[in-house]
Amino acid sequence: MFISLCRSCGTPAAAVMTFAYSDADLWLDDLSSPTHDGVELCSRHADTRTAPVGWTLTDRRRVSDRHLFIPVEPATVA
Ligand SMILES: [Zn+2]
Repeated sequence: MFISLCRSCGTPAAAVMTFAYSDADLWLDDLSSPTHDGVELCSRHADTRTAPVGWTLTDRRRVSDRHLFIPVEPATVA
């Protein structure tokens, strides 16, 4: 099975970023989405991706696929 890797760090990708220059639009989709001709990114790099000035970034990933690894808040010692 073909495994996509993040273009930024080489870890297994979880999302794909596509863009339309004519409309200055960026989209983030699940890797399983039909849109597959974009830039593969891992969840970390997808989450930290920001749109260039003048561009609109739309995150279309399903929420259930995000934040699988919720950071554990350090216990507060009273
Ligand atoms: Zn990455």
